[in-house]
Amino acid sequence: MSELTTTRAACLARDDQDPLAPLRQRFDLPAGVIYLDGNSLGARPRAALQRAQEVVAREWGQDLIKSWNTAGWFDLPKRLGARLAPLVGAGADEVVVTDSTSLNLFKALAAAVRIQAQGETANRRVIVTERSNFPTDIYMAEGLTSWLERGYSVRLVDSSEELPAAIDADCAVVMLTHVNYRTGHQHDMAALTRHAHQNGALVVWDLAHSAGAVPVDLNGAEADFAVGCTYKYLNGGPGAPAFIWVPRRHQARFAHPLSGWWGHAQPFAMAHGFAPADGIGRALCGTPPVVSLAMVECGLEVFEETTMDAIRAKSLQLTDLFIELVESRCAAHPLGLVTPREHARRGSQVSFTHPHGYAVMQALIARGVIGDYREPEIMRFGFTPLYTSFADVWDAVEILKDILDREDYDVGAERGAVT
Ligand SMILES: *Cc1c(COP(=O)(O)O)cnc(C)c1O
Repeated sequence: MSELTTTRAACLARDDQDPLAPLRQRFDLPAGVIYLDGNSLGARPRAALQRAQEVVAREWGQDLIKSWNTAGWFDLPKRLGARLAPLVGAGADEVVVTDSTSLNLFKALAAAVRIQAQGETANRRVIVTERSNFPTDIYMAEGLTSWLERGYSVRLVDSSEELPAAIDADCAVVMLTHVNYRTGHQHDMAALTRHAHQNGALVVWDLAHSAGAVPVDLNGAEADFAVGCTYKYLNGGPGAPAFIWVPRRHQARFAHPLSGWWGHAQPFAMAHGFAPADGIGRALCGTPPVVSLAMVECGLEVFEETTMDAIRAKSLQLTDLFIELVESRCAAHPLGLVTPREHARRGSQVSFTHPHGYAVMQALIARGVIGDYREPEIMRFGFTPLYTSFADVWDAVEILKDILDREDYDVGAERGAVT
């Protein structure tokens, strides 16, 4: 490591030069908080408060049920999907915002398994994923395979190096999270998709930690299906609905068991028997949560002021700076970098282990530096270029250093239900 030349003044100078700096004004963050948890719950766009008032007071309160037509409620899942699409390299008619990531994953997996069950791939019965994947992804895949029975199962791979070999003649579907929630490791989407296709498998990508965080090109990679969150880097609000991507080439044969009336070709015909909508509409299930969906639009609007390339460039600068400062300023302490140093393999977060990671994170939060903790021993720091400054990074590391130097944390701290 070269000698530290960075100073707080140098960080402030970088903020002055930062083309994304003005976008911080689009968010309402409490004074005295350095928010490094936008990878778990994004900050609130300023516009969300007024939009919520409009939707609740006028559209719901005054216009009541007429708003399904007059305020565009009916089209919201598709309209938001079209607005989100460019962030992940998707076509405007290939994405809807609906349901949760868990549910969308179930739909995508079920559709992929069904496609594979036809023709010469019919004997493939394995869904391959990583043991380190986010638990709900694995739970949903296991839920699906145990309901299907007939020999379907989930194969868990222990490291990404073992992935290519695990995609064998039994593998029907590969389900991968593009950026790992714990380590921040980023997969090579194009290369893994190509490998899976060469070996006869379809690929479902989870973009929970990618959408709005790193550039994604689903169509460029010729991926098969994708899902992702809007409440993380896309700043859609707590519990905001997720998205699902079905490329045009798979839409006609995209079928899933959650055949609710919103996925019907004519929901208000109230017909007997399910007939799926043409196109992406068939990925919908039931009535969407309109108030929550409206908030998603406020998050997406901010992205239209910049590009994912500009966001990525700043994200790498922020994470490089954080790693450099932690490793130099806190060198006396037992911190271990978990996140890859190599840019191509890094998402927009940095994780460090510490033997008292949970207690140290609680102390950081008490001092206004909000990150989070994931078992085992991992302190997670998410970097969101839309509202995080270089001076924030400097200040966060100084507070971390102070806490560690003075051992100012409580190892017996009680854990909340959400860590
Ligand atoms: C955050 C996250 C989820 C969340 O799923 P929900 O259904 O919204 O609870 C799923 N998968 C991954 C990889 C995540 O990071």
